[in-house]
Amino acid sequence: MNQSNSTEEKLAILEKRLNQTIQSRKQLEDEYQHDWTHFSNMLTQLSYACGGLDQNLDNALTKLRGLLQRNSGMELLKPVMTESEAHIQSVANQVQRNLKDAHEVTFATLNWLLKQPNLSKSARSELQRIIELSQSQHVSIMHYMPLMITLLNYCQRLGSDIVSAPEQQSQAHQKIVLKLITQLEFNGSTEQQLNLIARKLKGKLDNTELLSVLVNLLETIIHGVSLERQSAQNFLLEISQTLGVVQGTLNQSVNERGHYESENSSLNEQLQSNVDRLNASVQSAQHLETLKQEVASHLCQLNETLKEKLALEEHERQHFERTTAKLNSKLTHFEQQVHHYKQKLAEQKFKSLQDSLTKLPNRAALEERMRVEEQRFKRTKEPVSIAVLDIDFFKRINDNFGHSAGDKTLQVIASMLRKAVNESDFVCRYGGEEFVVLFPNTPIADAQARLEKACERIRNIPFKFRSEDIRITVSVGIAELQQVNQSLTSLFETADNALYEAKKTGRNKIVLASAVSN
Ligand code: GH3
Ligand code: MG
Ligand code: MG
Repeated sequence: MNQSNSTEEKLAILEKRLNQTIQSRKQLEDEYQHDWTHFSNMLTQLSYACGGLDQNLDNALTKLRGLLQRNSGMELLKPVMTESEAHIQSVANQVQRNLKDAHEVTFATLNWLLKQPNLSKSARSELQRIIELSQSQHVSIMHYMPLMITLLNYCQRLGSDIVSAPEQQSQAHQKIVLKLITQLEFNGSTEQQLNLIARKLKGKLDNTELLSVLVNLLETIIHGVSLERQSAQNFLLEISQTLGVVQGTLNQSVNERGHYESENSSLNEQLQSNVDRLNASVQSAQHLETLKQEVASHLCQLNETLKEKLALEEHERQHFERTTAKLNSKLTHFEQQVHHYKQKLAEQKFKSLQDSLTKLPNRAALEERMRVEEQRFKRTKEPVSIAVLDIDFFKRINDNFGHSAGDKTLQVIASMLRKAVNESDFVCRYGGEEFVVLFPNTPIADAQARLEKACERIRNIPFKFRSEDIRITVSVGIAELQQVNQSLTSLFETADNALYEAKKTGRNKIVLASAVSN
């Protein structure tokens, strides 16, 4: 009984343990199943997140997801996981490389942008902020993307600024280039080409056209400079050739002179020995007859030597004449060349002092003349007056009838002004639509009278633009030099203030500086 009891008990214990074991195994299997499902879901999600980066990786991940969904065993999963891992590694490396390259390019672009002139203050500080952002380490695309978006937005704004750059800005550039062209001094074909370019610059040009005109201008200048250099080189070459010939002729003449001198001295020696021998014959003669014969023979030799000497001298004289004539002709040619170049230089100097549009002297010429008049005033104390003239509402002519009409107006007014004042008065185009008249030896009242006549004549010019009758007026400020220590430059400013007064008080009038309180 006891035995059967204990066996039953043992069996019960065993059964209990077995149940416990089955329970724990079931629990383990559940846990494993749960973990596996969790892992498999996570892997599936991850595989979706890695999608779209690389074709091979996408294929491997699709395979992996299929196996996971079918709950395939590890034997099937393992090789696909290894394959996916390899692709992931290669894609990760590629991303790192791209990130590094993009970082470098962005940094360089930002620095380049920062160096651009004409950047507004705000654009500059925005750029600096983006540079600071880009300098921090960007370990992932997610960090990098916002920076790229900021930068692209910025570039887009900058681009639209450039595209919609105000037309006036490109017009202002055209004007600057035009002004610079008038300062260039070329002649011949280069000058013609420059005039052509200037004409284009007076019209309306978009950025691309302006760029192509500028390229053309550069080419023309380079060509012109090269022509000038070529011509200067030719001139120098001619000088050096002429000098070479002169030197050669002189050398030859020195050599020939040496040759002549040695021949001459040998003839002299010969003459001396003839005379000596004659002398000796006379001394030693014992018979008159033999003496006569010997003297006759010596005289004959003497005669021969003298003839030779004369011939040599004649040859030398002729040679000297030829050499002198040759040198003379070379030097005359040389003189002509120098004269030609002197003329060319004078012409260029004249051009640099002349305004190309109106053909009046320009501002540089005025400054030269002012220096001269200032000195004269100090010496003679004779009165000097200066007037500054400005065309009224000139901009309207350009705006309403075009730049060419404006140019023509300037030419007509310049010519009228030149004719209206005295010949001894110095009239120049100071710049734009402003003229200056310097009146040597003229008190302000006389200058005023002459200018009143000039203004009247200008007012009466019947301009006709696009069948519209237009009258143009000018405003003038005049001043007279009063003290010896006053400079003409400061007198100019005084006249300019008077002009300002004329503009302020209604235009089309002359204001005397004495009437303006400075
Ligand atoms: P104000 O009566 O106040 O002097 O008015 P304004 O319009 O004459 O003066 P403003 O200074 O506003 O304009 C001068 C204009 O002269 C502007 C410029 O385009 C024009 N200009 C300057 N030089 C030349 C040139 O060589 N040719 C032409 N066509 N226009 C010129
Ligand atoms: Mg003006
Ligand atoms: Mg004006």
